[in-house]
Amino acid sequence: MAQANAANIQDGVTIDLSGLNQFIISDDKSLATVGPGLRWGEVYQKLEAYGLAFPGGRSGQVGVGGYLLGGMSIWKSPNRAQANRGLTGGSSYFIPHGFGCDNVAAYQIVLASGTILTVTASTHGDLFKALKGGSSNFGIVTSYVIRPFPLGGIWGGNMNYLAEATVDQQLKAFNEFAGNEKFDTNAAVQMSIAFAPSIGNVFVDQAFYALPQVNPPALQPFTNIQPQAGNETALSTLAPFAIADAKASPDGSRQMTWALSFENDLQTLHALYAAFNASIASIADVTGIGWAVTLEPLPITFLQGSTRLGGNLLNLPTSPRGNALVLCDSSFSWTNENDTTTVRNAGLKLLNDINTSAKQLGTYNEWIDINHADITQDPIASFGPANKAFLQVTSRKYDPSGVFQNQVPGGFKVFP
Ligand SMILES: Cc1cc2nc3c(=O)[nH]c(=O)nc-3n(C[C@H](O)[C@H](O)[C@H](O)COP(=O)(O)OP(=O)(O)OC[C@H]3O[C@@H](n4cnc5c(N)ncnc54)[C@H](O)[C@@H]3O)c2cc1C
Repeated sequence: MAQANAANIQDGVTIDLSGLNQFIISDDKSLATVGPGLRWGEVYQKLEAYGLAFPGGRSGQVGVGGYLLGGMSIWKSPNRAQANRGLTGGSSYFIPHGFGCDNVAAYQIVLASGTILTVTASTHGDLFKALKGGSSNFGIVTSYVIRPFPLGGIWGGNMNYLAEATVDQQLKAFNEFAGNEKFDTNAAVQMSIAFAPSIGNVFVDQAFYALPQVNPPALQPFTNIQPQAGNETALSTLAPFAIADAKASPDGSRQMTWALSFENDLQTLHALYAAFNASIASIADVTGIGWAVTLEPLPITFLQGSTRLGGNLLNLPTSPRGNALVLCDSSFSWTNENDTTTVRNAGLKLLNDINTSAKQLGTYNEWIDINHADITQDPIASFGPANKAFLQVTSRKYDPSGVFQNQVPGGFKVFP
């Protein structure tokens, strides 16, 4: 998943972590030590042998290393493990897992000095917190101890729809799902709006339920949307879903992503769709164009669950009114270098148009998902001034000569 300005370098040294692919499960199965060289599809396969899972990347080819330092997860709904770990205080009400980084119990890290530290909440509380979203600013993580959770069969998959015929139903269903105070935390949905050159705009709803239950009520607002152009939902387990998802993003294309967030609001969702629709004219003729934005609900129960797990650097929830949030990530891909300026300009315009609409509607939220942020964005500032200052103090303590600030170009730095 090499990205210019992130994980590779021209005329420099690239450190290849792919050989650090260890996987060790603890005797009581409550912890797993995973190497940064593993990809989530492999981790899910290994965990499934023990009836376990983890809120890792949606796509099987996402790497453990960068993903967990950014902290984000699409697979955020499976929640039974929280109850099993007693975090619900004995209540039968299930709570969500929070972000992937919320479920890391320990890091082994090599600092710029060459010192190897085992970092836990009790040994180095500051660095432990900084690694939960602070990206590659502190050292090279050589292993993560994660807390998996029990998971068996699940139900879900992609459902496809033509956009013009279903847009009102789609956005209403999404808005109500994200804002539902009785959110069924076994249910997860992410909704993509994509341009398909041969047929126009489409919606792809990826719905999942963390139990082997076909078409559960919580997901019926999406499964009931008609007309449906395709349906791949099935009973399965996490690993095959993630590995199949990886096939939708084959290697080899140029890619641009950005991230934004806003308060869950139907008018903002419609403004987003209008901005997406207006953006098509500028990229429709680009060779090999892939043009999609993905919406992911961050319901209140999810955000509260993340805080309950000990918190992270992400500064969520940031909604002043306490509303659910919507994370929106883009995925733009193209083939020819000559089209890079066209695609990037159109992509940045769309980012700006959606943010402008959200600001006008009073729903703009400052948080930027670091795992999808564009190089022109500042996700570390979006964590808030206090968290940014904390990251800077922690960087000075563990990397006093600023090796990861000055000699490791790329990625998002705590000192701009
Ligand atoms: C198809 C696709 C699907 C995706 N799905 C999701 C998703 O579901 N959820 C989500 O949150 N994100 C998702 N992402 C984004 C993904 O989380 C980021 O791209 C992430 O940075 C990938 O990490 P990596 O280790 O694979 O990448 P890399 O490019 O190898 O690393 C990313 C950054 O982290 C640094 N880094 C990596 N490993 C270490 C380490 N061990 N120690 C210190 N620094 C390190 C690298 O130097 C680099 O700066 C997806 C991306 C793609 C392309």
